[in-house]
Amino acid sequence: MCLVCAERFARRRLLSLLPALAVATALPTAALAETALVEPKLRISTPSPGSPRVALTFDACTGQTDMRILGFLIENRIPATMFLTGRWIANNPEAVALMRANADLFEFEDHGANHVPAVIGSEKPYGITPAGTAAAVVEEVEGGAFSIRQALGVNPQFYRDATALYSRDALDLITGLGYRVGGYSLSGDWGATASAAQAKGLVAGAGDGDVILSHINQPTRDAGAGVVEGIKLLMDRGYTFVRLQDVELTSTW
Ligand SMILES: [Zn+2]
Repeated sequence: MCLVCAERFARRRLLSLLPALAVATALPTAALAETALVEPKLRISTPSPGSPRVALTFDACTGQTDMRILGFLIENRIPATMFLTGRWIANNPEAVALMRANADLFEFEDHGANHVPAVIGSEKPYGITPAGTAAAVVEEVEGGAFSIRQALGVNPQFYRDATALYSRDALDLITGLGYRVGGYSLSGDWGATASAAQAKGLVAGAGDGDVILSHINQPTRDAGAGVVEGIKLLMDRGYTFVRLQDVELTSTW
């Protein structure tokens, strides 16, 4: 599908959802207040114990680019899935060009327009102000997808929100828009707050079938160096690396 057609398709899809959005946004606050946030899990469906596989996924939330990770992946031809925000794309043109030049390695997916939690209601995951309304969730999701299409020329298939926590009605909305939810099964860096030694241990602790979430936007933190060391250990143990689009996945929430 060409870019123009893709944009028309996205607009049509959005317009078709507007009546449902009107209903969703009209829900009384009290009805949403009890919504518990959920953290979707994602794993590779088919076990491969003889030649273990993991999916490396990296979030580029805001900020800069961790070239320790991106350079290592490119030098070693390691495939990975990149969840990019519109804001990060706008602020990192050189890294975007580098990723695009290595598009055979990387899958590009949607991390939102402005790194806002996909939560309808007032709950604040990790204290972060959420999108709040269904319309704002759609704006965040489709805004991020628009940036991916513009910068990288592909239509994202997955959406992962800012905190990996969602309200259930937001999850229904996102899947209704046609996206798969980018859950994960193992945190590789505790939101880039881990020490290098901790991140190394977390990543190296992956088992066959894990979907690992780490960050590629924190070049000044120690965690990124540990993530690279963890990947090296997995390589030494014969692990192979797949992108989300390459394998069957089981998603639960
Ligand atoms: Zn993020």
